[in-house]
Amino acid sequence: MLCPHCANRTSIRSSWMLSTLLRQVRYRCENDECGCIFLAHVEVVRIIVPSATPHPDVNLPDRYVATNATPLPANDVNPIPANDDGDDAAIAVPLDPMTP
Ligand SMILES: [Zn+2]
Repeated sequence: MLCPHCANRTSIRSSWMLSTLLRQVRYRCENDECGCIFLAHVEVVRIIVPSATPHPDVNLPDRYVATNATPLPANDVNPIPANDDGDDAAIAVPLDPMTP
C-alpha cells in the first residue's frame, strides 16, 4: 500500500482481525520526511480456488459475478485519431511543384 499523502512505500506495523473476513492493518509511511501512520481494511471479497476445508459461516462468491454492465474486451477501443477534425476540417491539397 502506498502512503495516501506522499505516495511513498509503507510497511505494516501491526494488524488485527475485526471479523472472519475483515482485518484492520496499521501502516507506516517509509518516507521519514512524511511519517504518516494510517489504518486500512483488508477484506476477503471473493474465493479464487475453493477451500478443501470450508468454514460453514463463510459464504462468498467463488466465480465471476456478472453485472448489468457489458464488459468491453481490452482491444475494443476505437479512439478518434488526434488529427481527425471531422467534416469541417480543411482539405489538404497537394502542393504544385511548379508554383513558387
Ligand atoms: Zn507518506
